[in-house]
Amino acid sequence: MALALAIHGGAGTIHRSQMTPALEAEYRNGLETALNTGYAILESGGTSLDAVEAAVCSLEDFPLFNAGRGSVFTHEGKQEMDAGIMDGHKLAAGAVAFVKNIRNPISLARKVMEQTEHVLLAGEGANQFADQIGMKTETDEYFFTEHRWLQLQEALAAGRIQLDHAKPIGTVGAVACDKNGHLAAATSTGGMTNKKYGRVGDTPLVGLGNYADESVAVSCTGHGEYFMLGVTAYDVAARIKYKGLSLEESARETIDHLTEINGEGGLIAVDINGNVALPFNSEGMYRGYRTSNSPAITEIFS
Ligand code: ASP
Repeated sequence: MALALAIHGGAGTIHRSQMTPALEAEYRNGLETALNTGYAILESGGTSLDAVEAAVCSLEDFPLFNAGRGSVFTHEGKQEMDAGIMDGHKLAAGAVAFVKNIRNPISLARKVMEQTEHVLLAGEGANQFADQIGMKTETDEYFFTEHRWLQLQEALAAGRIQLDHAKPIGTVGAVACDKNGHLAAATSTGGMTNKKYGRVGDTPLVGLGNYADESVAVSCTGHGEYFMLGVTAYDVAARIKYKGLSLEESARETIDHLTEINGEGGLIAVDINGNVALPFNSEGMYRGYRTSNSPAITEIFS
């Protein structure tokens, strides 16, 4: 069986003019580290589930991406994170929404999948569950980054949820196919800058921002509300299943549909033959992949 791992670090308006060579090198370094961490697991015979969790933990720990450390700020200046993971072979999923101070929300999502009879835990309850099972937490200072704080100040001054100018960049995700042809998907985010009222995006919702079954695994990034309306992650699976499309065709049609409903963003997808697709309709998407047939590749712009 062909091995494959694809990752993303968010899609949106990435201004080429603001991307210095040094910053680009930093982003690529974050992507490469995650890619190597996840792929090493696949190469040593590990499961796709372990590979996507490890890749996403690495991206969560990397402060430039909007997940875990470096998450964006809510209207109240807090960091509330969403994450979802899915095991395609078992058709099992786990997710958490607006959790605080959890170092790796994706690992908490996996515990929800493996240790509870539920799929999604939210808010204080999810944090209580994390306490109970001894998940690693960090102080607010750990999650704080200057650039996210400045983004909130700009969004507050302009009175908008950060959608229109500086697009939400940095949600992270991974999809993988292991040696048994089993697929998994994982996605993690801080959500949108200046979000209010316990807003939850598409990321932790099965079939919207994250999905895996026996034939495809998908992780999405972009303006979450539109991914909810487009049922975007499952849309890739449905087009393969009901229209008989290839992964590439299905992923592309799904993004075309997102464009039709005015959504912006992208997705990464993998099938059981180790094919990967990484379409997006925004200016850029931090992304990378490695398969049995391809060396590690990272890209930012189209
Ligand atoms: N989809 C995420 C959300 O709406 C944001 C992102 O992908 O950057 O919460």
